Amino acid sequence: MYDGQCKRVRLYRAMAKNNSIELTPDCSACAALCCVVFAFDKSESFAIDKAAGEVCPNLDDNMECKVFQDREELGFKGCITYNCHGAGQRVTQEVFKGMSWRQDPSLKHRMGEALSVLRRIHEQLTLLSMASRMNLDKGERETLEGLEKSLTPVSRWSEEELSNYPIDRVTKNVSKFLLGLQRLVKKPN
Ligand code: SF4
Repeated sequence: MYDGQCKRVRLYRAMAKNNSIELTPDCSACAALCCVVFAFDKSESFAIDKAAGEVCPNLDDNMECKVFQDREELGFKGCITYNCHGAGQRVTQEVFKGMSWRQDPSLKHRMGEALSVLRRIHEQLTLLSMASRMNLDKGERETLEGLEKSLTPVSRWSEEELSNYPIDRVTKNVSKFLLGLQRLVKKPN
């Protein structure tokens, strides 16, 4: 585990234990995964080409972005709009127990694989969390809770569980459920 994150990590672990998983990114508890595992194509969103697994040249040795305040002006708008929905810190802390690819570069690929699934899981949980604030009937609420349960491991996520998880099927089930709630969505005047 790298310096300066112990307090956040303790808090994160307590929340995970209580099943109140954080769906908001906490970069201080993450091993800067989005700055490493993804490929960038030079475009309006990214000023450079970068291969998956290549460390962004703007990431410093303390895992902080050297151009954080100036990302938009320097052509890194994609970093601002990207949202892992809290999956980055969970991959780092829960799946890899606080380890970082800095200590073991062979983890880059494995952490990237775990993030690609867990991010989609957290995206579905975020949508369901928004739907839970709607005026659902009993059956809808039960369906929602069943879907949330299917997106939550019995104890904790492991690499193996994530790689075997049927994310495409569960995503389809969530989409179908949300489409059925259209009557609750206010139409614009
Ligand atoms: S520009 Fe900064 S935030 Fe974006 S990938 Fe590079 S280090 Fe990360």
